[in-house]
Order: sequence, then C-alpha cells, then structure tokens
Amino acid sequence: MNTILSPQPAPAPPGHSEPCVDMLGRPLTDLRMSVIDQCNFRCTYCMPAGLYPSDYPFLPSSERLSFAQIETMARAFVRLGVDKIRITGGEPLLRKNLERLIERLARLATPDGRAVRIALTTNGSLLAAKARSLKDAGLDRVTVSLDSLDNGIFQRMNGVDFPVEKVLHGLEVAQAVGLHPVKVNMVVQKGVNDSQIVPLARHFRHTGVVLRLIEFMDVGGIGAWSRTHVVTSEASRALIDAEFPLVALGEGKPISHETASRYRYLDGGGEVGFISSVSQPFCGDCSRVRVSSDGQMFLCLFARDGIDLRPYLDTAQELESVLRRHWQRRGDRYSEVRGALAQAGGRPGKQYPTVRMSLVGG
Ligand code: SAM
Ligand code: SF4
Ligand code: SF4
Repeated sequence: MNTILSPQPAPAPPGHSEPCVDMLGRPLTDLRMSVIDQCNFRCTYCMPAGLYPSDYPFLPSSERLSFAQIETMARAFVRLGVDKIRITGGEPLLRKNLERLIERLARLATPDGRAVRIALTTNGSLLAAKARSLKDAGLDRVTVSLDSLDNGIFQRMNGVDFPVEKVLHGLEVAQAVGLHPVKVNMVVQKGVNDSQIVPLARHFRHTGVVLRLIEFMDVGGIGAWSRTHVVTSEASRALIDAEFPLVALGEGKPISHETASRYRYLDGGGEVGFISSVSQPFCGDCSRVRVSSDGQMFLCLFARDGIDLRPYLDTAQELESVLRRHWQRRGDRYSEVRGALAQAGGRPGKQYPTVRMSLVGG
C-alpha cells in the first residue's frame, strides 16, 4: 500500500501500526511535548520582557493536558513511529510533579520493543534541585540552554538577572546523577553573545558536555529578528576551529533526523554541534512533531495554526488515525522555502505570523 498517496488511510488497529511517513517521505520519529507555556526567564530572543509582562495571558492550568492525557497522546505517537520524546516548555521544570509524567512516559516501548528515549530541554534554573528525582523517574538525557559564561551578558539575555553559576551547578548535578548525554544549547546572536562562543567551547571541552551552537531564528512572538543578527554555523565553527581544531563527524551534516552537524575536537576534547536552522535548513529530514500544553499539534515550528487533539483523546484508535492522517498530509518545509526565497533576492520577511516559541517549546 502506498501510504504517502492514500487520501483516506484506513485506521490501523492500536498496537499494529505501520510506519507513518509524510508527503515528502519523512517518517514521524520525534515528539516534542510542551508541558507548560510559562517561564521564569525572559530571554530576549524568545520571551522578551516587554512583550511578556507578568500579567501576560498564559494558558490557565485548567487548560493544560493532564499527565494521563499526555500519556495517551504519547502512546499513539509511539505506535506511529516515535521513539524519542522531548519534554519542553516554556520552562518544563515549572510544571508541578513533572517526575510523575516522566515515570509514565519512561514505561513506553516502541512496537518492536525498544524503550522510548525521554529527553528534557530546560533553562537549568531548577535543575540542581530536580536532577536526581528526574533521573530516578526515568529521564535519560537533558539539554540545558546557556548563552554565555559571562554573567553580565547572561543576565541581560535571560532578562531576569539569573546568575550563570546556578546553571553551571545544575549541569554538574545532572552529570553526577548519570543523565546522559548532557548537552548545552547556545543561541548565538551577533554583537550580543558571539564573544562567548570560544569561552563556552573551552569551558565544556573535556567535560563530556556537548555544546551546540544554534543560529538565531525568527520565531513567532518576538518580531525583532533580522538576518544581520545571525551568526552562521560556518562562522561559529571557524572561530572554534581556529582555537581548537575540529574534525567533522558524518561529513559535517546532521546524521539521520538529527538537527545538529556534529564535530569532534582533534585532541579528543569531546564533541560540539552546530544547528544551522537559518543558513542550512534541515527540513528534508525533519521528523519532528510538536504538541503544546493545551493539546494543539504543530507539524512545523513555524506553523501558524495547531490541530486540536483534545476531541480525540477518548478513543485510542480514532486518535491514532487522526495523527496518521495529518502526518501523511504534511508538506511543511518553512525554513527551506524561506531560505530559497532570501537567496533569490525575495523579501526575507515572515510569510505569516507563526506560533510563539514558548507555546511549542523549540
Ligand atoms: N525553557 C527551556 C529552555 O530554554 O531550554 C525550554 C524551552 S525553549 C523555547 C527551547 C529552546 O528554544 C532553547 O534551547 C532556546 O534556546 C531555543 N530558542 C528559543 N528562541 C529561539 C530563537 N529565537 N532562535 C533559536 N533558538 C531559540
Ligand atoms: Fe524561557 Fe526557554 Fe524561552 Fe528562555 S528560551 S524565555 S528559558 S522558554
Ligand atoms: Fe522542520 Fe519546519 Fe523546522 Fe523545516 S522549518 S526543520 S519542517 S520544523
């Protein structure tokens, strides 16, 4: 059966699903589940304080999916091919009793019996206190966002004067309790924190922590993006390579559904990754689906509208068939289209207002 072209696929019985691919042949393997849209930081590139004041109308807790509903949804996605679930937000560690959700998700297995990998993306502010209980609940891996080692720059960027030492301590505790791998995401902005590229690389070499440099993206809800503020992966890599020579892994391209191009330090200092969302979009290999904390599914980080999954949560078979149908109709490749447009001299501006990052979680 050609599942790509079938307009009305027959619902597969739960537990017996075939892999699900979209219109561009991309499988569904990676679920990003936002558990809360609130955050204790106001990063200038994500939730600038001016646009997200303390009385901002975040989702009320009554609108958030319960842990049981999230588990139901995750089960359906896993039957369709998802083998990695990333918990995100807003700041996911603000969600009360998150460990109880992780326990539920950590029990999931793929149709061929493999454990589903459970990952978390966090700003690290609460990680030192929670790393042990998260690990005990079944969390495998953690990614911590950290944009600078310089406290002044970090505090300006996080918008709430949060000190860098506390995030570094959270990272140490995460490693000590055995979360693996531990990664650090740095969003690089020209003239803001590009001075921190080499210091961060130097700091995390030989520690086992994988630093990943992310190109500053024009995400929904901020409106102040400009291509001139982007430091390309190529430029970041050249800066690091000049100080600490690098060798490409996997030909310097993202390996199978990953977002980062991976490099290793020639002297054995570990690994560093580059996420080139703007300069070299990886839509062709994008196997990620996102669900907001109120149960809207987004087929692209830059989608304008979500698909409300809440009406389908009562029947596993119906939910699975709805997910399958939407994924099979997916043709999104926003960053590629936009990059091509900019290269052809077209207007690089947004094509439409997109969902805010804090709702879908990056
Ligand atoms: N609060 C958590 C954190 O900061 O890790 C999880 C949610 S945050 C939205 C997820 C990721 O999105 C973070 O690594 C953050 O750096 C990234 N991000 C947010 N805004 C971005 C932007 N404009 N460009 C690139 N990455 C961005
Ligand atoms: Fe919060 Fe993460 Fe966005 Fe920063 S990047 S404002 S920590 S959600
Ligand atoms: Fe995937 Fe959309 Fe990002 Fe392309 S722009 S990589 S399709 S989320």
